[in-house]
Amino acid sequence: MASYPAVEVAWRRSGDLDPVADLLYAALDPFQPLAIDTRLDAPASTLDLEEIWSVFFRSPAQRDAAAAALDAELGARLIRIDRIDVPDDGWGRRSQAQLRAIRVGRVVVAPPWDVDDTAEIQILIEPSTGFGTGHHETTRLCLAALQEAGLRGRRVVDVGTGSGVLAITAAKLGAAAVVAVDNDPDALRNTRENVAMNEAAAAIEVIESELSDLSIEAADVVVANLTAPVLVRHADALKQIIAPGGVLIASGFGDAEEHEVAGALAPLRPRPPQRAGAWSAVVFDSPGA
Ligand code: SAH
Repeated sequence: MASYPAVEVAWRRSGDLDPVADLLYAALDPFQPLAIDTRLDAPASTLDLEEIWSVFFRSPAQRDAAAAALDAELGARLIRIDRIDVPDDGWGRRSQAQLRAIRVGRVVVAPPWDVDDTAEIQILIEPSTGFGTGHHETTRLCLAALQEAGLRGRRVVDVGTGSGVLAITAAKLGAAAVVAVDNDPDALRNTRENVAMNEAAAAIEVIESELSDLSIEAADVVVANLTAPVLVRHADALKQIIAPGGVLIASGFGDAEEHEVAGALAPLRPRPPQRAGAWSAVVFDSPGA
């Protein structure tokens, strides 16, 4: 049976404002984890709760690099960091079966078992290996920014579409045409499944491509929930696909990285950042605006 390379980390929680989860997200981000399965344990030996995360990666090499980075950056805060191989018996769907719908403004993102019929705009997402159930702060910041952007009749590109959640939201907000791009074929299977489930196939073109190789017509709104290193490395490719007067919604980085991301994206002009937890999103105006 195939197995997934993972790292299991555990730490003792210090109250509601425990910083370790945010630090872990930031430290794991460069290694593009596929999924994170979290649980709480109450060991008999102590009154403190233990939080335990199983973090899944695409390859053993990526897992090993992530484990080494966690050890170096957060070793002192963690009780243990174990490299494990988890049998592929459907953990992806099972571990996410507890997920509930989330709401951001007028948009509800729901797994198929928690639909909200009162939602003005409902996006159904089948949790799978495509990142983007709506639960991550960066996805939520992008969902809010898309609602502010005035998408009716506009052309939108979603770079790093993952589950397709942002592309589908753009289509439901009235965008005339949406292109959803990812370089990960596994994520794109989930994108297509979700586009079909939301009956959005007429408005959304799904493309497998590296951001750097993308050759498409420029868009009024580009949304890119990636990471700081990816945004910086591919800043020129991103600028190429924004029409004059258009905007870029960028997320996937923390406040300490805002400056570097904005520097790489100049002459695009950053608006004031929006923040949630350890994460930021910045809307950039193209100079033609
Ligand atoms: N848009 C979703 C998912 C973001 S996760 C959301 O906001 O929730 C980031 C996605 O970007 C992943 O699916 C990853 O495969 C993709 N990605 C990362 N680097 C990329 C690159 N260089 N070119 C294309 N896609 C990339």
